[in-house]
Amino acid sequence: MLLNADLHCHSRVSDGTLSPDELAQRASRNGVELWALTDHDEIGGQAAAREAARALGMPYLTGVEISVSFAGQTVHIVGLGFDETHPGLVEGLAHTRAGRERRARQISDDLARSGIKGAYEGALNYVGNPDLISRTHFARYIVETGACRDTSEVFRRFLTEGKPGYVPHEWAQLGEAVAWITGAGGLAVVAHPGRYKFTPNEEYALFTEFKGHGGAGVEVVTGSHAITEYERYAQVAEEFGLLSSRGSDFHAPGESRVDLGGLPYLPGRLKPVWEALADRISWPASAPA
Ligand code: AMP
Ligand code: MN
Ligand code: MN
Ligand code: MN
Repeated sequence: MLLNADLHCHSRVSDGTLSPDELAQRASRNGVELWALTDHDEIGGQAAAREAARALGMPYLTGVEISVSFAGQTVHIVGLGFDETHPGLVEGLAHTRAGRERRARQISDDLARSGIKGAYEGALNYVGNPDLISRTHFARYIVETGACRDTSEVFRRFLTEGKPGYVPHEWAQLGEAVAWITGAGGLAVVAHPGRYKFTPNEEYALFTEFKGHGGAGVEVVTGSHAITEYERYAQVAEEFGLLSSRGSDFHAPGESRVDLGGLPYLPGRLKPVWEALADRISWPASAPA
C-alpha cells in the first residue's frame, strides 16, 4: 500500500529549528499519514510530538537517530516504535550525548585556529537543547559570521574530514545501538546508506553485521539520497532481506532540500518497515476536526 509515511526528521530538541509541535503541524499540512520525530541521540521530544500528532489526527511512531562508529566513519541508525522509557535505551542515549560537549569545545578550538572565533558560544545561540550540540549548530553560526553563504558550503569547507573544525569522535558501536532499540521493543533501520563513503566491501560488512545484530531495515527513499540511490538501496533491501523505510530528514525551512512528506513513495515491491510496526503505532483517538 502506498503511504505518505515520513519516519525521519529533526526538531529543536536536536539540530532542527522547529519545535515538535510546529513539525507535527507542518507534517499534517503536507499530507503525512504516519509520522516519526527522529532527533539525534535524544528522545526528549517524543511526548510532545506524539501529543501534537494525536491532536491533528496523525498516526505516530516513536523515533530516534543514533550516531554510531563503523569502519572509521559515523553511521546513523534510526530506531522506530520503541518504548521510550526503556532503561537500556535511555542510558545508552544519555551516554552518547555526554561526549558531545567535549567534542564541541574541540571543534571550536580547531575553528579558532582557522580564523573562526567564538564558535562555541556562537553555536550555543542556535542550540535548542544544551545536551545536544551538533555540527549543524556550528554550521549556522559560521553562516552568521559571513564566512560561508549557506550550511552546505560550510560542510564543504569546514567540519568534515580533512577540513578545519573536524574532530574525530568515537560514538557507540553498531551492535550497542541496535540492542538499545530492539531491547526497547523497536526496529533498527540504517539511515541514508548512500551518504557514507564506504568501499563496496565495507558497505557489505555494514549490512551483514547490522543484520547479524538484529537490525531490521534500511532507508531507501530519503531526502539524503539522490534519485539513483532509491533503486540502488531498494536492491540492497531485497538482497539482505531488510524492510524499507522512507523519511525526508527535514531539519529547517529554507535549509532542507526536501520538506516533510515531500518524497516519492517507496517502490511497491518492497516491504515497508511500518507494516512490521502496526502494533507500535499511536493512533489518534478520533478523526481530526
Ligand atoms: P553531528 O551529529 O554533530 O556530527 O552533526 C551531524 C549533522 O550535520 C547531520 O545530522 C546533518 O544535519 C548535518 N550535516 C552533516 N553533513 C552535512 C552536509 N554535507 N550538508 C548539510 N548538513 C550536513
Ligand atoms: Mn542532523
Ligand atoms: Mn543522519
Ligand atoms: Mn537525520
